[in-house]
Amino acid sequence: DTSILHRDTWLEIHLDKIENNIKQLREYLPPYVKFMAAVKADAYGHGDLQVAKIALKANVDALAVSILSEALYLRKNGIKAPILVLTPILPSDVNIAIEYDISITVFQLSWLKEMRLYKVGRKPLKIHLKIDTGLGRIGLRNKEELEAMLPLLTKEDIVIEGVYTHFATANSKNSAYFNKQLEAFSDMAQWIKSEGLDVSIFHCANSAAALKYSNSFFDMVRIGVAIFGIYPSEDIRKTTPVHLESALSLHSKLLCVKKMKKGSFVGYDTAYETKSNEWIGTVPIGYADGWFRCFQGFHVLVDGQEMPIIGKICMDQFMVRLPEKYAIGTPVVLIGKDGSNEITLEDLANHIGSVPQEIPSMITYRVPKVYY
Ligand code: PLP
Repeated sequence: DTSILHRDTWLEIHLDKIENNIKQLREYLPPYVKFMAAVKADAYGHGDLQVAKIALKANVDALAVSILSEALYLRKNGIKAPILVLTPILPSDVNIAIEYDISITVFQLSWLKEMRLYKVGRKPLKIHLKIDTGLGRIGLRNKEELEAMLPLLTKEDIVIEGVYTHFATANSKNSAYFNKQLEAFSDMAQWIKSEGLDVSIFHCANSAAALKYSNSFFDMVRIGVAIFGIYPSEDIRKTTPVHLESALSLHSKLLCVKKMKKGSFVGYDTAYETKSNEWIGTVPIGYADGWFRCFQGFHVLVDGQEMPIIGKICMDQFMVRLPEKYAIGTPVVLIGKDGSNEITLEDLANHIGSVPQEIPSMITYRVPKVYY
């Protein structure tokens, strides 16, 4: 019953599929490897609290989010598992991280110094050191940088739980750059151990690395896309024994159906002109819902058939060409299966030149989620 949603556009999330994806990944990984589920960005648009709960039910060991507020939301809603914040927090928020037992990412000397201006009490701060082995985003870039930080790290109120890095090309067919990053991380890990730093978890593998390179497991893997049933690449889909299933579909209903005479215009800037007398339907979802203007020229499924999106996508609606009259309220599938036809996140990503996970991550709060 979707009547409580106040609109005829909604996401369906199958938590059982997420649970099954995690179980499959768990079975594939050696038992000693910990499993951190990435539930940042509202679990890639699937709903972070719901996904966190099902992931913990499926025995993941820890969760990863991107910003402190995401971690706090989970904690305040009863999630007790370890949570790592992947993007550095503000030094002034250090006491919040400690109070809520949230592990944070550290890589800058200046951050460690500034944090000291705020930290109160002796309760330890749990950190994971981030190493930049080649992504060029954030992280310590060499041993000298870490050496300079050591005096500030070896304090009684700092626990270095983990050391980690992130790969730039684990999903690529070519392994050369991946191997360079892996080697740099292994080197750094050896050196950190030789310095006598007490670190319990070294981790580097994202979904792609976890599915492709068993030498990247170390103590823990950090898996995002795969738990949502997205294969990191076509190559990995074909070669991995792990069977993943998409957990999300996007639905709407025809809001308006009308016959337009040949030579009529549809949408902003008169971008589409009917080539004959055509049936045109309007679907109530637009770019303010995360249904981008760049989906123009793509299609949706009505009655199991592909219907082309015509004209420009508006903020709250868009138009499709129908082969015949359809009743108002006829179901429209934007992502997912309809009869024997399917629109996948990969199809949409290919149309806009992006990655599949960008699509659900961009669907906004205006689209209600229905869980199964
Ligand atoms: N670790 C870090 C630092 C990340 O930024 C991400 C996501 O981009 C992940 C792990 C999870 O990656 P994936 O979704 O490819 O499994």
